[in-house]
Amino acid sequence: MLKTFWQYIKQHPVIYGLATFFAIVSSGLTLIPNLIIQRFIDAIVDGALTSENLGIILSIFLISIICIFITDIIWVMTLFGQSYRYQSEMRRKTYKKLLNLRTPFYERFRSGDLMTRMTSDIDYLGDTIGYGFMLIVSNVTWAISILIIMIITTSWKAATVSALPLVLFGYIVYRLWKKIDVLYEDNRDTVAKLSNEVLEMVDGVRVMRAYGKKKLEQTRFEKRTAAVLKKANNLVVYNGAINQIAKLLTGLSTAIGLTYSGYLISQGQMTIGQLIAFQIYLGMLSGAIWGLSDIVLVYQQGNVSFRKIDELLQAEDQLEKNGEETIDAINDIQFNQYMFQYPTNETTTLKQIEFELKRGETLGIVGKTGSGKTTLIRQLLRQYPVSETGTIKINGRFIQEYDMEKLEGLIGYVPQEHILFSKTVGHNIRFGNRHADEIEMAEAIESANFTTDISHMADGLETLIGEKGVSISGGQKQRVSIARALIRKPDLLILDDSLSAVDAKTERAIIDNIRTIRQDKTNIIVTHRLSAVAEADKVLIIDDGAIAEQGSPQELLRSKGWYYTQYMTQQMEVKEDDNI
Ligand code: ADP
Repeated sequence: MLKTFWQYIKQHPVIYGLATFFAIVSSGLTLIPNLIIQRFIDAIVDGALTSENLGIILSIFLISIICIFITDIIWVMTLFGQSYRYQSEMRRKTYKKLLNLRTPFYERFRSGDLMTRMTSDIDYLGDTIGYGFMLIVSNVTWAISILIIMIITTSWKAATVSALPLVLFGYIVYRLWKKIDVLYEDNRDTVAKLSNEVLEMVDGVRVMRAYGKKKLEQTRFEKRTAAVLKKANNLVVYNGAINQIAKLLTGLSTAIGLTYSGYLISQGQMTIGQLIAFQIYLGMLSGAIWGLSDIVLVYQQGNVSFRKIDELLQAEDQLEKNGEETIDAINDIQFNQYMFQYPTNETTTLKQIEFELKRGETLGIVGKTGSGKTTLIRQLLRQYPVSETGTIKINGRFIQEYDMEKLEGLIGYVPQEHILFSKTVGHNIRFGNRHADEIEMAEAIESANFTTDISHMADGLETLIGEKGVSISGGQKQRVSIARALIRKPDLLILDDSLSAVDAKTERAIIDNIRTIRQDKTNIIVTHRLSAVAEADKVLIIDDGAIAEQGSPQELLRSKGWYYTQYMTQQMEVKEDDNI
């Protein structure tokens, strides 16, 4: 951490130079009032105090206090201003990193943990480079200046004797250092886990209530908070111990200093003015030592947070090796004997996948739940590293040769779980293409069969949909997501079981619209309802990760396999529904 901070400080030499300069000036100035008190008392004792030199003493005293005030304000503001800038720089950097990382990374880190990293960990880092720097500069320069001035103006012997307990303090801090680091990390991780619990509770509160699990969840949460409290208490004990040891040893230092000064006065080696000044210096030195004891805590907290942020910034998802090939259109997709295994799974999820899809065609993918349909789609979206067994080619080139961002720009993806932002309906749709005009917007909404829904909403497109779209129905969420993908006019549209919450008739209408407006573009439709792919050019039946059947819907019906049986069952269900 120190190396990184040093690099940062070197990048801002003016700010940190100014802060250090004014801190040193302030420390020097702080000694002046004390020197004046010493002179003042000695003048009284010697009977040399006149109204003339009293006026001079008072004026210097006042001027020095005003100067201390001004220099303190300058350096504290400079330093803290920079620490806030550092925090915002770190937030931007980590946010950018989070935007670039993909699925394997998000499978390793939980949301609560990431939230803690982005919020309190970055705050602590800012504190360390701001408050920590201030503690070091002010207390170290202050302690050194006080010791020097004590040696010069009072007694070097008394100063040396009084400094001995402080050496002992340094040793104790060194011994406690590692333990405090462990405690901080422990405490921070427990708080991160607690944040996760809260996030999950907020997400799942309706399910918890519906299942009558409110009490159980409350008890679980109480246990977690008790764990946080326990860890925090451990930390308080150690923090308190360091502060108390600092107090004890500075008290000891004062006692030794006073006793020895008394002895020096009796020997005529020290004046009364020097004794009082010495006493005040010792008080100031104690303040500096308490300040230094704070550094241990600020440093340890900063160090733990630094490790957490650094882990994030160094994190890899094995997908960073981005290709460089640019791509303007998707004309041909080819899977060749492609196999895929999730990094966390022991068995292969996709087996010998082989098919070709040409521009303008519509591919249907059907099969049982868990058979591997979404996993197949994820390969095209490059959510995981491309497997080394088999190949995926786009326009005749390996998919991994393309610049990921360019490729993503050509795909409109509608996932199973709809991700909507807590803004207006219009904002969510326009998210697909910010430059779309009103006509394009209306077309996308119409094609997603959403026009009537909007006309029923109180504020139309300006209707707020709440967090994750809580204030609209499941079917409406799906259609907003489809409109968002359509407005993009992507080369490749992928609907991953994204019409499950709308009725068969609406699904049919949307699929027909898509066929009409996207005749020269490619579509992949993953679905459970075979009627949705009845007009597709090709349908893949996936079973246990492999293609069990493939062909046009007519060919599949003729071959009387799984597709045929499933088709007949679904037709019967439709007829039964119609009769009700
Ligand atoms: P489908 O879309 O056909 O319902 P999936 O492609 O989602 O099926 O899942 C296929 C298999 O892969 C399932 O056995 C599932 O448990 C497994 N799987 C899905 N996602 C992951 C993942 N992120 N990590 C490990 N295994 C996964």
